[in-house]
Amino acid sequence: MGNIDKSKQEYEKAVDLMPGGVNSPVRAFKSVGMSPIFMDHGKGSKITDIDGNEYIDYVMSWGPLILGHADERVVSKLKEAAEGGTSLGTSTVQENKVAQMIIDRVPSIEMVRMVNSGTEAGMSALRVARGYTGRNKILKFEGNFHGHSDSLLIKAGSGVATLGLPDSPGVPSSIVENTITVPYNDSESVRYAFEEYGDDIAAVIVEPVSGNMGVVPSTEDFLQELRRVTNDYGSLLIFDEVMTGFRVGYNCAQGYFGVTPDITCLGKVIGGGLPVGAYGGKREIIEQVAPTGPVYQAGTLSGNPLAMTAGYETLNALDESTYEELIRKVDRLVEGYKQASIDYDIPLQINRAGAMFGFFFTNEPVFNFETAQNADLDYFAQYYRAMIDEGIFLAPSQFEAVFMSTAHTDEDIDKTIQAVRTAFSKIET
Ligand code: PLP
Repeated sequence: MGNIDKSKQEYEKAVDLMPGGVNSPVRAFKSVGMSPIFMDHGKGSKITDIDGNEYIDYVMSWGPLILGHADERVVSKLKEAAEGGTSLGTSTVQENKVAQMIIDRVPSIEMVRMVNSGTEAGMSALRVARGYTGRNKILKFEGNFHGHSDSLLIKAGSGVATLGLPDSPGVPSSIVENTITVPYNDSESVRYAFEEYGDDIAAVIVEPVSGNMGVVPSTEDFLQELRRVTNDYGSLLIFDEVMTGFRVGYNCAQGYFGVTPDITCLGKVIGGGLPVGAYGGKREIIEQVAPTGPVYQAGTLSGNPLAMTAGYETLNALDESTYEELIRKVDRLVEGYKQASIDYDIPLQINRAGAMFGFFFTNEPVFNFETAQNADLDYFAQYYRAMIDEGIFLAPSQFEAVFMSTAHTDEDIDKTIQAVRTAFSKIET
């Protein structure tokens, strides 16, 4: 490994300043037996740490940077926007432009509200669903993460799974009572839950491709069944597309699967690396939100001009062909992983949907949270450290996605494949 002494020194300071030295638990490197690497800057497909080591980056800020780091188109417009004021606290044309683009591309969205994070989007979507239906219960899936709002922080995968934490203390039992959790991709459990509680269920919320227990796509039947059962019982179907939105494909996961939810949550890509979230859907539902309707939701910085500028420039740079090219690059990388797993006899499952992908160190198919637990975390930790040695930066957890950007070159991918081969050759069983 390159020298990371400065990162270690900064981490020693950070642990006194912030819990675990980090502002989001997924940034801790505990599960891979390391301390966090402090990054200095990013450009294109590369990220550079404060000791001067450069890595090919597949974290891409956990998904938003689909154009890579510091894309010229985004940065130049951001500079212009900043000169015009970092926040105006009133309506701007930029908000209309982003809203129009989202409405044009996301099949289910006729009207949208911008917020500041994916967490806010999920939390607000539930409030709207509860307000609209007059019901309290929510059905979610084990291992799906929808941000850290109380109702949704139950069997929530991702950071919680990486740290091996139970559901969070601090969430009142009165709230937990209203969240029903069933296994992902299990239509029978959904039907059973509806037979039991159907008339009280305001909404089903689902990641159409889960990216927070590793990548686990839903089966097409499953989403169609969710659509059917929610229609039958007058409940709403919410797709949490914070990660899948403009990542799986040009028309998001709902376009990819051809299933239309009532409400969609977005985040990540639509902010181009600035803090953002959004929720939208059928006009008659979203009009329930204040000031047209009684469901209250507001935000000092919502629709912030810098976030809207980065989001607009990012979305503007994407078209159908962008995804064909992203998928081609994912194909190339995935082939490299597969060949390496055969050559070095490493158990590996690769899960994909459009341009979104991830893998697990197991021979068993992974289709829900329970099967994701079959992954060998010790293999992952060894692999992770070897990849860092080889100059490849990945999310420090087996339960996260791998993010390709338009800035990654075939040369980056070939280097990554070589690094995977080196890492796999070193894994001690
Ligand atoms: N929903 C999904 C599917 C996510 O992947 C995430 C974050 O990773 C969130 C919601 C929360 O978004 P944020 O971190 O912007 O609050």
